[in-house]
Amino acid sequence: MIFSDKPKEECGIFGIYGPGLDVARLTYYGLYALQHRGQESAGIAVSDGRVIKLHKDMGLVPEVFTDEILKSLTGKMALGHTRYSTTGSSLALNAQPLMCYYSKGMIALGHNGNLINTGEIRSRLAAEGSVFQSTIDSEVIVNLIARYSQNSVEDGIKKMMAEIKGAYSLVVMTENKLIGIRDPWGVRPLCIGRLGEAYIIASESCALDTVGAELIRDVEPGEIVIVSESGLTSCKVDAPDRKAVCIFEFIYFSRPDSVIDGYNVNEVRREMGRQLAREYPVDVDIVIAIPDSGTTAARGYALERGIPFEEGLMKNRYIGRTFIQPDQAMRDLAVKLKLNPIRSILKDKRVLMVDDSIVRGTTCGKMVNMLRDAGATEVHMCVSSPPILWPCYYGIDISDRNELIAAKLPVEEIRKCIGADGLHYLSLEGLLGIFGSPRNLFCTACFDGDYPIDIPKTEKVGKFILE
Ligand code: AMP
Repeated sequence: MIFSDKPKEECGIFGIYGPGLDVARLTYYGLYALQHRGQESAGIAVSDGRVIKLHKDMGLVPEVFTDEILKSLTGKMALGHTRYSTTGSSLALNAQPLMCYYSKGMIALGHNGNLINTGEIRSRLAAEGSVFQSTIDSEVIVNLIARYSQNSVEDGIKKMMAEIKGAYSLVVMTENKLIGIRDPWGVRPLCIGRLGEAYIIASESCALDTVGAELIRDVEPGEIVIVSESGLTSCKVDAPDRKAVCIFEFIYFSRPDSVIDGYNVNEVRREMGRQLAREYPVDVDIVIAIPDSGTTAARGYALERGIPFEEGLMKNRYIGRTFIQPDQAMRDLAVKLKLNPIRSILKDKRVLMVDDSIVRGTTCGKMVNMLRDAGATEVHMCVSSPPILWPCYYGIDISDRNELIAAKLPVEEIRKCIGADGLHYLSLEGLLGIFGSPRNLFCTACFDGDYPIDIPKTEKVGKFILE
């Protein structure tokens, strides 16, 4: 990956029940739209009602699938997955969907999120004789569903949900059913769409738009949505009385053209920018973004203050995912390959630069230098999230507190470290105010350490020991 020191993203899932349609190709397009959620591996499983066929490999969606492969994947429903590892290493064996045979037939599964009690379940299953082919937590889920599905797969899923803890949005496929599941806290997004008679279950609504489907609604926390010959049915397991939707989905992960749990991501990001402007109304000549993650918030800042938004940094959109970085000189070159300043815009200007987040402080430090080299006279930095202080256990790979610059340094020290003339992070109150909602809708643990789903002590110690 070009910025190997960045945290990793999570996964995208897309399932379609569409007899008579080219379900593999529609899934391919859906995955294409979800590529931002994971660039490490991709896979599609299809069922024709009798058998499930699967193709998966390491690489981007268009690298993994050729026209010929798509033509060979015929069926009445499909399940696709694009992955960026948050548990388990980057291996072909860990690519998804996972597929297995069990006593009732075949089952395939795609998972987005991260479980927090896999260690203990896996040990128990292994002690009872289960074998595992991969190192990912998702395999524990398939194993539990298979073992508890004597009566029905729905029953198996409910029993599985009673055992696993953590964040999970899942799409499960048997020979005849497509099933969407969202964990009782609703941490990761999952929505339902309709394309004619076909139903789709996808991580984000942008994938529905891409295939011409209409967003019906989000899968609710703790809900199990089953699509089969008899249409769409749904049931629920007990859910807590608060939700814990990952707020980072709105800050960084999701595409701005998605609507998640009723909130339009683009509008939310623009409001973040407006709020930043109210919190940090500094005198500058232009507002720029670190593209693309800071763009929408930067436009919001510019709008609120009536200052021109300019494209001060040009992004090369053709940079591949993998990049060998043997030393610091190569890493610096990699940044320049990806982003280049437009001198005529920046020269002799007081600049406000917006990005969505600072994790280790690498990106913005380099960008501040780049802007000064390009002739900017002042560089202020605004971040459209509060300082990231705590690791995430629910699927965002920010696992080591030691790596988080805001956990180690106060804001003023970070400002000095990145070499900016001013630095402002969006306040947590300002961020939550945008949703006009009480705190108990979102997981904000990375900012305030308030983990909605209890982290087992062993997990916590394992990660915090590095402090
Ligand atoms: P850093 O350079 O370590 O401070 O990381 C901050 C940059 O990484 C920002 O440009 C963000 O847009 C981006 N970013 C934030 N979260 C993630 C993530 N989970 N995966 C990849 N990039 C991220």
